[in-house]
Amino acid sequence: VKPTFVGDLVVTPLFDGTAILEPAMFTAEGEPTSWNAHADLLDATGRLVVPVGAFVVRVGNEVVLLDAGVGNLQDEMFSGGALLESLASEGLTPQDITTVFVSHLHSDHCGWLESNGGSTFRNAEIRIGAADWDHYVTQEKGGAKRAARLRAVEAQVKTIDTDGESIATGITSRSTPGHTPGHTSLVISNRQHRLIVLGDALHCPAQLTETEWEFLFDVDRALAKATRQSLVREAEEPNTALLPMHFPGMTAARLVAGQAKKQWVMN
Ligand SMILES: [Zn+2]
Repeated sequence: VKPTFVGDLVVTPLFDGTAILEPAMFTAEGEPTSWNAHADLLDATGRLVVPVGAFVVRVGNEVVLLDAGVGNLQDEMFSGGALLESLASEGLTPQDITTVFVSHLHSDHCGWLESNGGSTFRNAEIRIGAADWDHYVTQEKGGAKRAARLRAVEAQVKTIDTDGESIATGITSRSTPGHTPGHTSLVISNRQHRLIVLGDALHCPAQLTETEWEFLFDVDRALAKATRQSLVREAEEPNTALLPMHFPGMTAARLVAGQAKKQWVMN
């Protein structure tokens, strides 16, 4: 487990399992052969096996969980169930979590909110973009089952209704719609350093350079592309790193400073 440092803060990955993605999902409107430059991301069968999980960051007395994994689930796409063990290996129980921030309400980001019909993180305030709550719970666009599981924790939910809401000390929300209507990122600032935790605004490192690609599961592909391009540009600012959920090892991406040609590193 390799944490990401933001000034004095430590953002630690908590692995829950894996997801299997197909390269064709990323080039919905694009060139199927353009993966040639990114073959290192594919496994022997030509698929992307990416991590699924959450991050945890301690800020003073607050313990903030960033996303909530996929849960105890095995299907064609997802294999999960390790999140609580990962949390325990950081010396934490679900009751220690004071805030859960959920980037969006796809199943691999909110999977542990509910377990056995009750709330997993009983002492936490749960922050979710209002437009996602409306889309997936009120309108049940992800199905009645997901909506019912989310309603089980509704008493703890405080929706994020405006851009730039405070989630914890030094951590603010950033509206990054497109992948889902209420998709939300976090900006963690500490000692002149900035980390943008961006959920599924990007899924794999190839998208850092293939900025015209469109992703099959983006609810609004044009908006998601504009959001993605704007986040990738923002990484050009000094001391700014991007932390997506599904990058290899759940590590951050940053631009190497002072290079004529853009060079990305994961660390
Ligand atoms: Zn995801």
